[in-house]
Amino acid sequence: MKISLRFQELFENRHNNSDEADRSAMLAEIGVGSIEELISQTVPAAIRRPAPLNLPPALSEAQFLDDFKKLASRNTLFKSYIGTGYYDTHTPTVILRNILENPAWYTAYTPYQAEISQGRLEMLLNFQTLIMELTGMEIANASLLDEATAAAEALHLFYALKKGAKAKADTFFVSDRCHPQTIDLLQTRATPIGVKVLVGDHRTVDLTNEAIFGALLQYPATDGAVFDYTSWIAAAHELDIKVVVAADLLALTLLTPPGEMGADAVVGSAQRFGVPMGFGGPHAGYFGTKDEFKRQMPGRIIGVSVDTEGNRALRMALQTREQHIRREKATSNICTAQVLLSVMAAAYAVYHGPEGLRKIAERTHALTQLTALSLKELGYEVLTEAFFDTIRVRVSDSQAVRTATEAAGLNLRYFGDDTVGISFDEVKTYEDAVALIGIFSQLAGKTVNLDEIENALSWEFDEVLTRSSAYLTHPVFNTHHSEHEMLRYLKSLENKDLSLVHSMISLGSCTMKLNATTEMIPVTWPEFGKLHPFVPKEQAAGYYELFKNLNDWLCEITGFAAMSLQPNSGAQGEYAGLMVIRAYHESRGNGHRNIALIPASAHGTNPASAVMAGMKVVVTKTDENGNIDLADLKAKAEQYSENLSCLMVTYPSTHGVFEESIIDICNLIHAHGGQVYMDGANMNAQVGLTSPGTIGADVCHLNLHKTFCIPHGGGGPGMGPIGVAAHLAPFLPGHAVVDGVGGAQAISAVSAAPFGSASILTISYAYIAMMGGEGLTHATETAILNANYIKARLEAHFPVLYVGSQGRCAHEMILDCRPFKQTAGVEAEDLAKRLMDYGFHAPTLSFPVAGTLMVEPTESESKAELDRFCDAMIGIRNEIREIEEGQADKSVNVLKMAPHTQNVVLTGEWTRPYSREKAVFPLPYVKAAKFWPTVSRIDSAYGDRNLVCACIPVEDYATAE
Ligand SMILES: *Cc1c(COP(=O)(O)O)cnc(C)c1O
Repeated sequence: MKISLRFQELFENRHNNSDEADRSAMLAEIGVGSIEELISQTVPAAIRRPAPLNLPPALSEAQFLDDFKKLASRNTLFKSYIGTGYYDTHTPTVILRNILENPAWYTAYTPYQAEISQGRLEMLLNFQTLIMELTGMEIANASLLDEATAAAEALHLFYALKKGAKAKADTFFVSDRCHPQTIDLLQTRATPIGVKVLVGDHRTVDLTNEAIFGALLQYPATDGAVFDYTSWIAAAHELDIKVVVAADLLALTLLTPPGEMGADAVVGSAQRFGVPMGFGGPHAGYFGTKDEFKRQMPGRIIGVSVDTEGNRALRMALQTREQHIRREKATSNICTAQVLLSVMAAAYAVYHGPEGLRKIAERTHALTQLTALSLKELGYEVLTEAFFDTIRVRVSDSQAVRTATEAAGLNLRYFGDDTVGISFDEVKTYEDAVALIGIFSQLAGKTVNLDEIENALSWEFDEVLTRSSAYLTHPVFNTHHSEHEMLRYLKSLENKDLSLVHSMISLGSCTMKLNATTEMIPVTWPEFGKLHPFVPKEQAAGYYELFKNLNDWLCEITGFAAMSLQPNSGAQGEYAGLMVIRAYHESRGNGHRNIALIPASAHGTNPASAVMAGMKVVVTKTDENGNIDLADLKAKAEQYSENLSCLMVTYPSTHGVFEESIIDICNLIHAHGGQVYMDGANMNAQVGLTSPGTIGADVCHLNLHKTFCIPHGGGGPGMGPIGVAAHLAPFLPGHAVVDGVGGAQAISAVSAAPFGSASILTISYAYIAMMGGEGLTHATETAILNANYIKARLEAHFPVLYVGSQGRCAHEMILDCRPFKQTAGVEAEDLAKRLMDYGFHAPTLSFPVAGTLMVEPTESESKAELDRFCDAMIGIRNEIREIEEGQADKSVNVLKMAPHTQNVVLTGEWTRPYSREKAVFPLPYVKAAKFWPTVSRIDSAYGDRNLVCACIPVEDYATAE
């Protein structure tokens, strides 16, 4: 046989389920002759793409890494003194390798199935404890998207809380010493809900202004100044104004926390706790507040509860799924957040402990002191009196400073006048400070005696600003400081969690695809990690090339004219897209158009985002086949024709079906002057076969953490870029600090950083580059094949709700579990918990239909894995039948008692009416690789009644009961 010299292994064959024999067997089971036949029965001909995807040829994994290294090297790494909310940090290598580079952590899902998520839940509890103790607040969440959006969530919270004399107040005061990107984003978020942002000097603002209901201060301020806000906050409270403080976590190890100054909420970023800058993200935003606001707090809260054995067990507390339940009345649209980054920040605090953190902060502060005193000695005016790590300095010629520092590979912050900002961080050394001082010394033509200055250093703050309260006293922050201890602690948590390293996670709508190793490797290259988001453009040439290519590719895939890479989650994409639609209507004198039509089956973030964008939600009906009820839609479009802003539609629908009428639906909305927003969460069924542009949508977000392989990280990070048709391109979001971002009439920013969580765009880039157009199209076809294979195997056992006109599902399907309630007293949740005993994570539970499971296998699962899952489901169906037929007890059976832990089956006498083997080894494959849940079924209601959201010693917990 001849061997080709040009043979290249195709990545596609690793990503897709591509075994020919398996595929033939699957097609036979489905009852079709070919994949083409299946696709033609599934995707309506009218919406097929006119031409195949036109993308660069697929690269092999080796070739991609080679090429990409070259692109990466076009980013130039300067030392950053820019500050402004982003700081260089050392990611402890034990955390780098065992969390950030570890698929057991990064491929996990949001911990809805708490019994198999105790590891990350514990680290998130550590995160909440860290935030509460450093900020001095009573409760904290885990976590938000970035500092700026966290500040906006506080604005929303205060706006929702105002009452009495303030009921009509509509103004939010923002100190002009907040970070510019935060001020910009607050403008975006305030305007559509009718809130005015008043930016000014906090020392002179007239708080008796009755319109003011809330205020934001920065601590330390963006120029480094540290103010004691105690009396200011007290004055605000006298006038019934609530105050949020954006605070720097490292500074809080030395400075009096805002909670002790009376703040109602404290927000910020946990980036500098071991998370690379990454040209803007991803990082965890944090939010701490008072206990009294816990029920209105946005985001997810981890809480302590108990399992059926009475053991301590963690789970998400309170309004976990509140968007699904409260929809347009939800407190926020936060869904995917930044779990992996909160986990890293908490691990950083665990590793360093309170003493270690304090030392890092003290050194950072001391270097800043050394620099400030030296510059004064050299004759410069240092404008910042009390500071932590940042000073603002007046220079006679800031261009000369810029030229000299850039020649030495340093970036400072330029305020656009005759002042510059200098921020220190954990990474900067004594030698760095000396080099920087040397440049100023040269410019001034003078020298300083550094030893003398060093001897004179005193880094005590004013007494009121000096932190006196203890923090991080819990054992978890005082135990794991050696590398062995840390490694084993991380491993012990990792071992409690089920992720894609164990088995398929078939979450409908959430698309848990392969996160290939080659896609993940560049994420931790310093060329991508060590860039500050506000560096001069020419230093980020590699990133800009990446953005350009990725934009082009995503435009080709979506059929749109332009993209914005700014939104850092799907829900933020929804918000950004709706704000673009709003700006479009306004530009045409149609500012009154504010009605969003949203089908009842939509994801909860849709109505929540619409309300944030200042729209009124009108719900449209779904017919008995799960499709949009066309008659109802027509009636409502007509009724609201005057004021119609848009329709939000998920395609294929959340019911897993390609609706035939989608083109008519888009035409109908357009005829009434509305725009069509497509929720792109289900793009994995479209890529290469059809596209939002082909169908007639005007704007669509892509969940890059679903369709484009960014791992879910246990609940984030993600990216939600939006694509738009040409008429909307001028309105794509801009940025206050970085120019050249967004359209010609750009709306203000929707994320703190200009390109959102830029560093993880490398993952989607790698995926597209290695798959090529054909590979991506095959992926979509294979996703549909895998889903229809599961449907074929399971439909005799579980009713499949909703299928297309020819009996096919798209890339996912809904299995109806509601009948079992009647026949066996079994609920969908019992199936979800029993799947754990079989080694599987449950499919999506009760969305979009209560009492059902929505299964989405993705293209990356092999037939063998699909079969294991089907065998498990059929096994469970048989167990239900035993209850139905009276062979098993109605209340003490393997489903009701699931999941089964080692403790349950090994401790004491076995008294249950079924065997231990049946409990934990229900099928032979389970025995070969058993995954043990570490707690039994968790009592969520108990935890909500007795809310505990921080690490407290176990003995205190016992008495707290
Ligand atoms: C996941 C999802 C969203 C929300 O996206 P996030 O990235 O989690 O913010 C919205 N709509 C649908 C249908 C989804 O599946």
